[in-house]
Amino acid sequence: MTQLSGRVALVTGASRGIGKAIALALANAGADVAVNYNTHSEAAEAVSRQIRTGGRKCITVQADVSKTADVDRMVKTVEDNLGPIAILVNNAGIAKMLPPEQVTEQIFEHFLRVNLTSMFLVTQRVLPNMRAAHWGRIINLSSIAAQQGGIIGPHYAASKAGILGLTHSYAALFAREGITANSIAPGLIETDMAASVPKEVRDKVPPETVGSAEEVARIAVLLAENKTITGQTYNINAGRYMS
Ligand code: NDP
Repeated sequence: MTQLSGRVALVTGASRGIGKAIALALANAGADVAVNYNTHSEAAEAVSRQIRTGGRKCITVQADVSKTADVDRMVKTVEDNLGPIAILVNNAGIAKMLPPEQVTEQIFEHFLRVNLTSMFLVTQRVLPNMRAAHWGRIINLSSIAAQQGGIIGPHYAASKAGILGLTHSYAALFAREGITANSIAPGLIETDMAASVPKEVRDKVPPETVGSAEEVARIAVLLAENKTITGQTYNINAGRYMS
């Protein structure tokens, strides 16, 4: 038995990168896990197989987390198959580096929808069962872009900064109900998303400051296991932003 045995975790965007590493780490720490993905079904299934092989229950659930109907269906599927969600990791996100003059209103709103509104939608849907259980962990993937602007652009930075406000609100509202809410704000982490940054920009980042998805996942497990850390932003950025 571990601290997370019997707890159900939902990790959005767990087919690849940081979400995959967090799903595997939470399963390794004893949780049953729902692996959400949007388009990469085979990669998501492979993550689920690995979790089941390790002895934990796991389902794979497709949903575009920026769509309300998909979120409703996803959460219902998880609850029907695994039980109420105790650990929610809002990880799914997109990034596209753009010069500021190319960020249209449509692009800006799309980024807010996929990176920020999605986290609100999933959290709203999951919160009632957390409140009923007097136990919950909400872990949101923000970014150093929220704190420093970053290299992707204003559309991405604004969406990631909004996540900090959302997290603070949930942390303040539910601190006395056994529910914690925290953000993780990474610098550059070696994933497909980081690989999509143009080479000339990546080359300026010292390799020793680039983190791994597994390092981020260890922080997520810490936050899932701890009951008094709430309202915090965990920076994992090789000292590029200090709090
Ligand atoms: P990746 O691009 O490697 O993976 C993104 C994941 O999100 C995939 O599983 C993808 O699913 C999923 N996803 C994207 N859009 C949706 C959607 N609409 N609905 C459901 N799932 C979706 O990203 P990373 O692992 O690098 O990043 C994970 C999180 O960490 C993001 O929120 C990102 O902003 C943040 N972050 C990343 C940093 C980095 O350097 N990598 C730095 C700071 C923050 P599918 O495979 O099906 O497409």
